[in-house]
Order: sequence, then structure tokens, then C-alpha cells
Amino acid sequence: MKLYLLIASYCLISILFGCKKSTLDNKTTTIIPEYAKKQLTVIMISVDGFRPDYLELPQASDLKKLSEKGVKADYMLPSFPSSTFANHYTLATGLYPENHGIIDQRFYDRTYGEFNVKKGASKQSKWFLGKPLWTLAAENKTPFLSSWWFGSEANGPSSEVIPYDNDKDKKEGDPGAFKERIDKIITDLNNPIVETRPNFIAFYISNVDVAAHQNGPNASQTIAAIQKTNDAVKKLVDEVSKLNLPNVNYVFVSDHGMVEANTSNPIQYPAIDEKKFIVTTDETMIQLYAKDVKDIQTTYEALVKTKDASRYDVVLKKDNTLFATGSKDPHNRIGDILLIAKSPYQFQFQDDKNSTTGTIKYKALKKGCHGYDPKNNPAMNATFFAWGSAFNKTTIPSFKNVDVYPLVAHTLGLKYTHPIDGNKNTLVNAKVLKNIK
Ligand SMILES: [Zn+2]
Repeated sequence: MKLYLLIASYCLISILFGCKKSTLDNKTTTIIPEYAKKQLTVIMISVDGFRPDYLELPQASDLKKLSEKGVKADYMLPSFPSSTFANHYTLATGLYPENHGIIDQRFYDRTYGEFNVKKGASKQSKWFLGKPLWTLAAENKTPFLSSWWFGSEANGPSSEVIPYDNDKDKKEGDPGAFKERIDKIITDLNNPIVETRPNFIAFYISNVDVAAHQNGPNASQTIAAIQKTNDAVKKLVDEVSKLNLPNVNYVFVSDHGMVEANTSNPIQYPAIDEKKFIVTTDETMIQLYAKDVKDIQTTYEALVKTKDASRYDVVLKKDNTLFATGSKDPHNRIGDILLIAKSPYQFQFQDDKNSTTGTIKYKALKKGCHGYDPKNNPAMNATFFAWGSAFNKTTIPSFKNVDVYPLVAHTLGLKYTHPIDGNKNTLVNAKVLKNIK
């Protein structure tokens, strides 16, 4: 009787979950139920700092071929500031940085204090606002997998979230390191139980950005990193195609571009009274948070008088037109005074002072920089192309990166009602999608 129940249960589970297998030429083939064949899979790949013109390099020839298979934008406009964390979380939420809360690499929250990933901030959900795609997927009962996408580990690691790993990232130029994460995607996509097989995958690659910061956007080391990324993406696509899954789609994006930075004439850190202001620093933006609002105007005027107008601007938060929504700052995380470097200049920061000789050491300058206002700096432009069963073959004009979220949600059939900054119609009206309603 027990054996009968066991066999009956197995048959029922097989029918329900489609995990019945047949042996064919000594290979195990997954039988996909009809309803699952209609489901789409979207694999969103971000290559940090991948400029649109990199596609023309011979070392990116496979990426170029993939970009010609579907939709390709002239370029994608990042949000201000054109920095990594801000724009990856914009791609994930469809919100401008000031609305999703991650307004730069480092900033200050008047309740929580300093945002610093080196102190674990990327693992703390309190910083991350909006509804990222992985949360939307979970709400819509759509399985997902995030591999290193910034913001996805804010609620801790899980079977669906592989947290960013700095030690592994340093080795990621090695084929072995890419292999581990690609293997995980293939294993998960090969899951015969369709209810837990991911339909949305977010996959982040850092090495082009790292090489360009250290060596410059056109350096041989950066070109070598582009080649490794090209090979890794090709490997992923080839491995996925062997699974014969129906309706697989890819969205390839980057967060920003990169400019050859000036390293001969850095902007010296202006004198700021740190008794009156909390200061957060980045090579292209310094933010001053007043401890007492009465100090804002006088300090602003003093900074304007001493500024080097050819290399940086001094802007009051209340007057700024850099952030997409201007002076609105719903989470109160933008500094009261902003010092904004002009491309290709960068601020130089003191790293240490020798206690015996008094000699000041400075942090190394970057040979490649981003973070500048993307509206006025074409070198900050990001990349977008997408291909697969859902996408038409077409080229489209540039668009803002807040529009990626509604495109991915719409493609996967993920319903949302909360307000976002992106507009679904931008890409739907550009006829990027086949007959999906
Ligand atoms: Zn980046």
C-alpha cells in the first residue's frame, strides 16, 4: 500500500511540476509543461562602466553580434550622479537616486549617519527605498536570482541572492571566477521544477570599470578586461542556449561611461570647517551637510569666492538642477552644499599624514573617472541592448535609465501599481517588444 502511494505521489508531482524526465541517447531531457513554455525569462546583465563605443572594439566582437540581434539604443542616459551604486539601484527600481535613497557612492543620512559600503551599508535594508525588480518578482511569485547586483543583498543572502564578494571580484578577470557564477545560473535554469526556476536573473560584472579607473578607459588593461567580459557573456549565452529553454531574453546594460581623467592638475580639497559641516567625499562630488542651517549661506559664499570655476562648481542644494527632481529631496540625503567637479578633473584627498615628518600622503588619483553630470558629458553615456524572443530587431534613440525597470517588468508580466520615475511607454512605444500586452 505504501509503495502504491509512493508511486501515485510521484506521478502526481511529475504531472503538477513537470519534472518527468525521459532518457534519450543517454541524456536526461527535461519535459517542460505547456504553460511554462509561455513564460519568459529575462537575464539582465550589467557591465560596470561599459561605454557604448566599446562595442566597436574587436575585443567585444561577440557582444557586438549579440547587440545586432535585437533592440539597440544609441545610448542610455544615466541618472545624476553618474556613479555605480546610484545607477545600479536606479536600473533596479525605476527611480531617480534622490527617490530611491542611494544618492552617491558615499553620502550622509541625517538619521542613520554615513552610508559607507566598506562599513556594511550595502547589507542594510534601511538605506534602500523603492521596490526593486527582485522584490517585485517575489510579489508576483516569479522566481529570481541576483548575482552581485548592488542592493539585492540588503535583506541578506539567500538561495536567490548571491552577495557581492570583493575577494572573488579581484580574481574575476580569471575565467575560473566567472565560471563559478555562470555555473550557478545554468544550474538554477536547469532546475526541472519550473515553479522554482528563475525567470528573472540579474548578473553584475565589474572588471571593465576597475581596469578603467586604474589605467584609463582606453588602456590595454581595460581592453583586456573588455575581452574577458565579452568571453564571459558569450559563455553564459552559449551555455543557456544548450538548455533549450523557451523564451529566453537578455537585457545588456551599463551604469555609466568613463572619461580619461586629468591626473596632472587635481582639485585640492577646499578648506571646510568640519566643526560646522559633515563632509562626504567622492572624486567628482563633495557634499556638505550643515550641523546648523545658519552656516549654509556664509560657507557657500566663501566657497564660491575661492572656487576654481574652470574645474568645479559650488551649488546650493536648494538651487541645484543636477538631480533630476532638482531641490526635492524626499529622503533628505543630499548635502546642503555640493562641490561638483567638471570633467575631466577630480578632487584629490589627503590619505594620511606622517606623524614624524608631517608629510602629507594623498590618495592615488584615478586615470578614468565618472560621476559627472551625464546631461552635459557624453562620455558618461551608458549602453543598452536587448535580444531574445520578446524583442524586435530595431535601433532606438537614447532614453533615460529609469525606463529599464518598466520594460523588464512589462516583459515578464510583473504587475506594479506603485509610482516610479520611469515611463513604460517610452520603450513600448518605440516598438522594442513583440506582441506582448
Ligand atoms: Zn560603475
